Amino acid sequence: MKSTFISSLVIASLFVLSCNKEEAASTVLDTNENSALDEYVTLKSGITVMKHGGDYILEGDIILTPEQLKSLDETGSIAGNVSVELNRDLTLNPVTNLPMNPEDMIGTKNLGVYPTSYNLWAMVRFVYDRNLTSSQRNCIKQALLELQGKTNLRFYNATGEPTRDPVYGFDYPYINFVSVGPRDVSYSYVGRIGGKQDIALADFAFWGSYYGDYGVIEHEICHAVGMLHEQSRPDRDNYVTINWNNLTNDGRAQFEKQSSNYFYRGSYDFNSLMGYDSYTSSTSVVRDTSKPMYTKKDGSNIYQGSTVSEQDRKWINYLYLPYVARSDSYRELDAVVYDGDNKKLTERERLQMQAQLNNGNPNPPAGGRISNEF
Ligand SMILES: [Zn+2]
Repeated sequence: MKSTFISSLVIASLFVLSCNKEEAASTVLDTNENSALDEYVTLKSGITVMKHGGDYILEGDIILTPEQLKSLDETGSIAGNVSVELNRDLTLNPVTNLPMNPEDMIGTKNLGVYPTSYNLWAMVRFVYDRNLTSSQRNCIKQALLELQGKTNLRFYNATGEPTRDPVYGFDYPYINFVSVGPRDVSYSYVGRIGGKQDIALADFAFWGSYYGDYGVIEHEICHAVGMLHEQSRPDRDNYVTINWNNLTNDGRAQFEKQSSNYFYRGSYDFNSLMGYDSYTSSTSVVRDTSKPMYTKKDGSNIYQGSTVSEQDRKWINYLYLPYVARSDSYRELDAVVYDGDNKKLTERERLQMQAQLNNGNPNPPAGGRISNEF
């Protein structure tokens, strides 16, 4: 996600930009310093991606795996190696195999990858990179706690733990939160990709925390759990008008539509954390920063949410369950479990689901929980 601050230099000089205010902001350079190094590549499928160093970037902030890039090139879809599962029946949760009934849920859900057992997480394993300051770590912690409070997502802090399974020798999938300094873009992969996957946070990602706003960090985390940009919905032209004349090549590449490998229901969500603001201060995206990138159909502006919207929550809650970290294979649910309409399950419903997950046993053995401090 791009910085939307009017002037990073002005803002940086006004505030001490950290969560606990103990550390001053590090150096802030011109926000477009990296843009000259970027090049645009149009794939065989017609989709334009940005090449930034060794990485290929879709829609401004989504890093592509080699498999996703190949698949995007050949088919226009980022399905990658999960395409065999794309037609699976979504009345069964792809991770838990418990029944879900989409017809029971009338609410809109926002856009994300087509969910499979490959690209979703059970618990989201993460580590803090050593290059983060303590205040940056604290900002990430606040973002994780906010997401845990509002959704069924659960995170497991594996900082300092092995990255490879000692018995079977496979690499654990995990997110590495890393600081990338004074850039104007933060990056994430979309969905679980296997092994280590960075969430690269630029300095601006931490600035909103001065106001208790962790939106940029949460946006990148939501990519990693499978969400895509709301403005790339295949039906978006019914809801928004894109100001193509004001977009640069970089800007145009941020408004690609998803043509396959997506999962959404209902109408466009103008409050989504995953939809961009109408305006950006980034001159690598727009020719004239006083004019919008896009607007609602009636010409009014769109404002990106500062945390997950009700519809964002529905997308997540429909697919995820709030597991408690344990050392055994028992699947214990946290105290609050949401259904796909963001309604809390009753205690009876929660225990019923816990029993279904554990071959009929609703009571987790004592002592199986493991410490999971952020
Ligand atoms: Zn994004």
